[in-house]
Amino acid sequence: MKKDPSGRIFELKQFGEYGDVNPSVTDSATYTFMQAKTMTDTFHGETEGCFLYSRHWNPSNKYLADALAAMEGTEAGWVTASGMGAITTALLQLCKSGDHIISSMTTYGGTYAFMQNWLPRYNIAVTFIDITDLQAVKAAIRPETKVIYTETMTNPLLQISDLPALSAICKQHQIKLVVDNTFTPMMVAPVQHGADVVVYSMTKFINGKNDCVAGAICGSNAFINELIDVNNGTAMLLGPVLDPLRSSNILKNLHTLHIRMKQHSYNAMYLAEKFKETGLKFNYPGLPEHKGHLTLKKMLNAQFGFGGMISIDLGTADKANELMEKMELADVGYLAVSLGYFKTLFSNSGKSTSSEVPEEIQREMGLSEGLVRFSVGLDNDIEDTWQRIKACLIETKLI
Ligand SMILES: *Cc1c(COP(=O)(O)O)cnc(C)c1O
Repeated sequence: MKKDPSGRIFELKQFGEYGDVNPSVTDSATYTFMQAKTMTDTFHGETEGCFLYSRHWNPSNKYLADALAAMEGTEAGWVTASGMGAITTALLQLCKSGDHIISSMTTYGGTYAFMQNWLPRYNIAVTFIDITDLQAVKAAIRPETKVIYTETMTNPLLQISDLPALSAICKQHQIKLVVDNTFTPMMVAPVQHGADVVVYSMTKFINGKNDCVAGAICGSNAFINELIDVNNGTAMLLGPVLDPLRSSNILKNLHTLHIRMKQHSYNAMYLAEKFKETGLKFNYPGLPEHKGHLTLKKMLNAQFGFGGMISIDLGTADKANELMEKMELADVGYLAVSLGYFKTLFSNSGKSTSSEVPEEIQREMGLSEGLVRFSVGLDNDIEDTWQRIKACLIETKLI
């Protein structure tokens, strides 16, 4: 039986030096040494457990990174000031000028813009493909390909990446598989399915409170040590470190993630079954008719369900806007970007989080202008929420 990842987190004994059950909060940028030689050794990365400067490591960030590594079953982790900080740092560590990346065409809009607009300035080329088409992935490989990049569950179309299959392709060609697992924490541990590096926007489900932006990178000890190398490490030299006060808050929220994921999944499945009865066009990977259902199922850790994300196609942007405004007034949740919050959030992807993707590419990837993405909240009475949504659908003449 697969090990429950939340179990690995709870096995960690992390408490402060006075027995404080929440580890002490680091409120220091720099650290003092009793012996000068220890400082020199620490600079050279030769001293376990010594802290030097908070951009490199600090105790609060280490507690959170260790807990994330336990959740993922990786050797190590490092925490960043945002999800984009994690994605860009990981990619810039793995690629240099002249290299090539193969990426899922459907990714978070910021990731797409970084790869499409920013990386070419530094002569790093990117080929965007349909990540569920393994032949297309193989055909895109070049001698200079260094990374295949995808999201476990892609944004906003909720396609599912077949991580074991992608990993097998990567291993044949000495390519690293980098996976954004923001939509599916606890549910899937990508490194257990062959990914080399996992990146997160912790802004979403992991923190779950929408009170900050934050990110994380998990992988091998060797990779994390490369990232924070004082001479060459991208994390150390570009400096996208998370503030330790935030880390200590996120660590506490991480410990309720397993319960939250179950409730997000339960509520989303409930709504998906109701949407199905209406005959509306929608995506939810938990239903057997979703193209990626079985692929997701084979990667899932038991108990956490199929996630809290649903996207529903209302045809036109006008219809989508009308429905979203009605749902806001009916207290279904908030018309807002982002996800993983305790309240339901909804937004029109093509006009918001994927607006960086040009309209013709949006059409090519099957992103309709009427696509509304729901991040289903932790509602205690989801039937009541459904009744509100249904009333809005009727008023908007969508059903
Ligand atoms: C939000 C998001 C990001 C970016 O994270 P930030 O914390 O906003 O920088 C990256 N990937 C996915 C899938 C996201 O949803």
